[in-house]
Amino acid sequence: MQFKSYPLSYNRSLRQSGRDDNYVDYVPVAKRRAMVALTIPKCVGKSKPKLTKPSLLATVSSLRKKQPLNIKQKEQIILQEKEIIEHLPDRKTLMSVWELAKGIVYTEPLLTGWKPPLRFRRMPKKACDAIRKQWHILVDGDYLPPPNKNFKDMRFPGPILQKLKSKGIVQPTPIQVQGLPVVLSGRDMIGIASTGSGKTLVFVLPLVMTALQEEVMMPIASGEGPFGLIICPSRDLARQTYEVVEQFLEPMREAGYPKLRTLLCIGGVDMKSQLDVVKEGVHIVVATPGRLKDMLAKKKMKLDACRYLTLDEADRLVDMGFEDDIREIFDHFKTQRQTLLFSATMPVKIQNFARSALVKPVTVNVGRAGAANLDVIQEVEYVKQEAKMVYLLECLQKTAPPVLVFCENKADVGDIQEYLLLKGVDAVAVHGGMDQEEREYAITAFKSGKKDVLVATDVISKGLDFPDVQHVINYDMPAEIENYVHRIGRTGRRGKTGIATTFINKSQSETTLLDLKLLLEEAKQRVPPVLSELKDPTEDVEASGAKGCVYCGGLGHRIGDCPKLENQRSMQIASLRSYYSGSSGYLGEI
Ligand code: AMP
Repeated sequence: MQFKSYPLSYNRSLRQSGRDDNYVDYVPVAKRRAMVALTIPKCVGKSKPKLTKPSLLATVSSLRKKQPLNIKQKEQIILQEKEIIEHLPDRKTLMSVWELAKGIVYTEPLLTGWKPPLRFRRMPKKACDAIRKQWHILVDGDYLPPPNKNFKDMRFPGPILQKLKSKGIVQPTPIQVQGLPVVLSGRDMIGIASTGSGKTLVFVLPLVMTALQEEVMMPIASGEGPFGLIICPSRDLARQTYEVVEQFLEPMREAGYPKLRTLLCIGGVDMKSQLDVVKEGVHIVVATPGRLKDMLAKKKMKLDACRYLTLDEADRLVDMGFEDDIREIFDHFKTQRQTLLFSATMPVKIQNFARSALVKPVTVNVGRAGAANLDVIQEVEYVKQEAKMVYLLECLQKTAPPVLVFCENKADVGDIQEYLLLKGVDAVAVHGGMDQEEREYAITAFKSGKKDVLVATDVISKGLDFPDVQHVINYDMPAEIENYVHRIGRTGRRGKTGIATTFINKSQSETTLLDLKLLLEEAKQRVPPVLSELKDPTEDVEASGAKGCVYCGGLGHRIGDCPKLENQRSMQIASLRSYYSGSSGYLGEI
């Protein structure tokens, strides 16, 4: 609104004459502001306010969208992808040199004497399929053992059933419903299920039964064993699995069953104490590849009698460059074994590679390999690099402890822990640069509830089971979407709901952000505006090829742009350089 101004003399004459046709009443400032304010909602509601400059990411993705691929281009991309897959680093078969040299090929599974009750054996295929459908279990393989919804019907001994009950484990999870009958009957298996789905019990309980059966048939003598072996990619995961095995052996010993011994065979611990257990005779070994390979090479332990092998987080073992170590370990087996591969993520390429070690395997898949745990509420927030630390403190208020904070590098772990301690938060830290004792102290303190926050690198993101973690904070978004899935899988376990908050900013690549966006959409989570602006450039190709990347399972890119493959190539180059240093694995510990 415009107000007229008049010269003073004119005003004076006006006041005297008392009339002016052009005169507009004076409106006080407050009233004028209120009138302007009234017009604002109309503006917001009807005409779109002028947008600020779009982000570079949004511009790039909209430019790509404007040029849809023609059929020829699509075919070319698919051809190129096939070529990349064929030229992937040579994945040799997972068999021992000894077996290869002698041309030994096992054609039939190593069946155990275990059978489910008769009514299960007589269950028609249609009924089995109905149970699998109800529990969202996908199976693949010949002569599939029927699923079983009850631990009691799996014929475990009383002390095991009581222990399960005392831990609140009364009903099998989907992977257990199908996985336990498969493993108990002696079949080789590829188990794919999200983290926290209860897959550890699928290989631990049948192993206890196998060891018991062998011990009853012929008690182990000093220096003999093991009957079964579990290989894990990290020391912490191996220790946790060892503890799970021991939990079930203890009540069995107390109930008068034969005494079964377990060995935790990991590096960073004095080998002498491990050798003492071997001398006594050991039934079950839980190991990391390095120390196990060492002990076998030094002939401190033999795998002559070992007939049960589990590779936990199998794809990780291969990714981390332990492939040759595992092949060397395979060389020490002298008879056929039952082989099980477990993981939450299992790219097609590694599944094919794994099949070379398995005999008529059954694949049990609960949910898409690489999909996120649906019991986790995923929140993604744009936080500028310099604001992260302060915002982290605010984020910690979202839930009660315990809270896990993940970040990519060791230096950040130290900085964050220091900052949190200064602010009075009871935080501990774990990364690959710390010695085993420090790591164990931090993990035990966090697990037992003595510490509220654990700050860590991905070294603890796979497979570790922390009770009741309320909130996982990704201080940075990992470049590989698989790591994100593993990280957030530390919460939302045992059917409880958890929260995961992830900080993103411009330091993430578009591929990573697209993978994240599509993963959020798949899990029916809210997609923040900064991600929803991104368009999926792979949509066009999907019509004629498989969805996403066949190498890492990421949904937002094709194999040609796979950050994991890229990362592995550079690690392989690095490993060539350090070849003579004799270190095993591509990765130094993160
Ligand atoms: P995992 O995926 O094997 O690491 O298991 C995650 C957690 O789920 C562990 O703490 C197990 O004790 C627990 N768990 C395993 N099976 C069941 C079940 N059937 N019911 C409830 N909790 C379970």
